[in-house]
Amino acid sequence: MTRKFKGPSVKTICSRTATITNAFGNAIMPVVEPSDAEIEAVLDGIGQGGKTIDKQSCVYCSEKATEWDHLNPMIRDKKPTGYFSEIWNLVPACGTCNQSKGARDWADWIGSDAPKSPKVQGKPWEENRRRLDGYLRSRPQRATCIDIKAIVEADRLQAYEDLRQNILKLMKAADEIAAELRSQIVLKANRLMEEADEIAAEMPGHIVYEPNRAARLAPGRAQAHTGTPVPLTDATTLPIGHRVRSVLQHLAGHNHLTDDHLEVLTSKEKSHAAFKASFAVLIDVTGMSKPARMAASRDDGGRLRYYSTFELAYRQRIYALSAQWFEHQRPLFEAWVWTVAQPG
Ligand SMILES: [Zn+2]
Repeated sequence: MTRKFKGPSVKTICSRTATITNAFGNAIMPVVEPSDAEIEAVLDGIGQGGKTIDKQSCVYCSEKATEWDHLNPMIRDKKPTGYFSEIWNLVPACGTCNQSKGARDWADWIGSDAPKSPKVQGKPWEENRRRLDGYLRSRPQRATCIDIKAIVEADRLQAYEDLRQNILKLMKAADEIAAELRSQIVLKANRLMEEADEIAAEMPGHIVYEPNRAARLAPGRAQAHTGTPVPLTDATTLPIGHRVRSVLQHLAGHNHLTDDHLEVLTSKEKSHAAFKASFAVLIDVTGMSKPARMAASRDDGGRLRYYSTFELAYRQRIYALSAQWFEHQRPLFEAWVWTVAQPG
């Protein structure tokens, strides 16, 4: 089973649109501080009286509660609903339920097929719905809900809404510039890494001992490993193609490549078996004219598949190196490097 790494993705300014809209809604709604007696009344009502606050469970799914959730959402369809942030509109809940519920009506959501709803998670939602229903019918005070439009000055409410719209427009404009800047940064960073790679390859002492990395890449063989030299250039930050280039140069320079290794590198089938490569890692271009070499570097569709500016010299032969390297091949390549560099 392969474990896929799901890393951070680009965060656009507009991915915060809902946060801004919620802030606009929340900022005009009063927050009413509850008394201890009122909190007790709510907890008693939902059958959790006498429990300290850190022992409360989620009213929807019965898991550990981590926050107070607005039973009736304060914002719906980008507008304040009129409900306050007050104890009569708050219930202990877990973060999963809070997010899954969103702006939905709790009674519809709890038994729905919404992602991560209590029903979907196989939690006792029917029992919890009955209990919460009972509480809402018998609680000493109902949650306040006001008609905002009816009580505030219409032109001020409109001015507020215009500001929100303007902020969203500015965010869109900022995203366009962000995309431009991001691509400029990518281009420059790639160039800098290439330069760093070239400088490192020319440095006389570019050999270090990296037993920990080898142990990580080849679990189970770590005990036999005594610290084999591998190139200094960083295996994880260099683009994979550059990493392959600098390692092969190093191994060739130290006469570490055996006939078996060369066979893996120059056979299409063995390169595929070892690295999932679509082409042989190396092709022998010894004595070829430049046009002949270019022709040998192209695939059936005429696309260039080998570096034109790099060649590997080894045992009186010249090899061109495949430029087709992808991130998923990195661990395979590093594991192979370990076996080549292994002492004895
Ligand atoms: Zn929950």
